[in-house]
Amino acid sequence: MRLAVFEGGTPLTTREVAEAVNVPYAHMAKVITRLQHLGVVEARRGRGGGLELTGLGRTASVGWLVRELEGEDEVVTCEGDTPCPLRGACRLRGALREAQEAFHRALDPLTVADLVTAPTGPVLVGLTGRRPD
Ligand code: SF4
Repeated sequence: MRLAVFEGGTPLTTREVAEAVNVPYAHMAKVITRLQHLGVVEARRGRGGGLELTGLGRTASVGWLVRELEGEDEVVTCEGDTPCPLRGACRLRGALREAQEAFHRALDPLTVADLVTAPTGPVLVGLTGRRPD
């Protein structure tokens, strides 16, 4: 979202975005790497380099992005090493699956560009992570 309101000038770096949104640098670096693999962010190295949202990144469905980043695993662990004895006949499991699908469906129509309209965008523009001169 921060990259979606870039207004020209020197692109932000991973460190600057991390500082702007109060996220540890190591965590942000991992997120940026995943976003690069999805084709929604480009990182240019060297002087004048930095991060840029791609065209796909701007128009990407938020539901798609959340599925890609968070996965679509069930929200509870019913199987596994110690499977739940209710797993074959559990109404809660079915209800949670439907709730998870509804959660993704609600995000599907939104794009990243939609998320940075006012009032969010103007606030994001002020979050630079850059120290004042
Ligand atoms: S009670 Fe139902 S939802 Fe919870 S772990 Fe067991 S099968 Fe899964």
